[in-house]
Amino acid sequence: MAIDYLRLSLTDRCNLNCIYCTPLEKNRFLAHEEVLTHEETARAARAFVKAGVRKIRLTGGEPLIKKDITRLVGMLKVIQGLEELALTTNGIYISEMADGLRAAGLDRVNISIDTLKKEKFKMITGSDGFDAVWRGIEKSLKAGFKAVKLNVILMKGINDDEIADFARLSVDYPLTVRFIEFFPTNKRSASLTGALIRTEEVKKRIEASFGALSEAAPVESGGPARGYTLAGARGGLGFISGRSDNFCCACNRVRMDCSGKIYPCLFAGATHDLRPLLRGTADDAALSEYVKGLFLVKSKYNKTSTHAGHIEMSSIGG
Ligand code: SAM
Repeated sequence: MAIDYLRLSLTDRCNLNCIYCTPLEKNRFLAHEEVLTHEETARAARAFVKAGVRKIRLTGGEPLIKKDITRLVGMLKVIQGLEELALTTNGIYISEMADGLRAAGLDRVNISIDTLKKEKFKMITGSDGFDAVWRGIEKSLKAGFKAVKLNVILMKGINDDEIADFARLSVDYPLTVRFIEFFPTNKRSASLTGALIRTEEVKKRIEASFGALSEAAPVESGGPARGYTLAGARGGLGFISGRSDNFCCACNRVRMDCSGKIYPCLFAGATHDLRPLLRGTADDAALSEYVKGLFLVKSKYNKTSTHAGHIEMSSIGG
């Protein structure tokens, strides 16, 4: 499988405190000098693109709390050979930033939102930000992005009563709602025992309310998501079934965190570190050779790798 997708985490900090994501441990953030500058991040991104990457997704932590992110988007957009630049955000700040990000060259936006109810939003995220996120979704739809997607982590007994409400959003708005199977990544999420609702059950519940789902043609850059539409819908539905399926052999992605550590697989931990090269004497050719070396060993790592249960999504970025 060609490795052509890089998920780039820009910060290990987040402005939300989600019950299934934020670690319980406090004060474990990286020091300012450990985090790559925009110039270092862009240089690293160029090395990845030279090694074959065609799509970059900015994530975090929360990427929109990163200072001057619009400038970074502009720096990445001009990388020759990069075909798509996307962002995953919790949406708290997107309403003020959507136009600027689009103008700087951001192609696509995924907004994570797990409930449509204000009180429950506060329970899940620790924040009163529901209205801001909803405004951000509406603003993003008007900003001219190639696609706006909502990421929904379903948790039994917490938000599975809202499956039909989320599915209806894909009927009413030109956006894709993606239901992502919850998985226990760290100590905090492991305490949510019994939270998993498998895709098969979610599909059944949607079909009970809306009728048969039609499978959409696979999109080339669609990754592990399987796409469907409801009759008469303006948008689509997607299912990411990390617990029910094993898509390791179709995995085309690698991840780099904000300090330059590289993860060939979410379940493997960091195996490579670009920061010493970025801050040393390595030239651009040496950087991309280093990245190519990582691509060659990626297939050794998969879901059975040892870090399952010790994944900090809040710094690696999902
Ligand atoms: N702050 C941004 C956001 O909220 O989208 C980007 C980082 S967040 C860690 C990226 C994605 O990881 C989100 O869509 C989030 O829902 C997902 N995620 C975090 N913990 C998860 C878990 N335990 N199971 C499944 N997905 C998870």
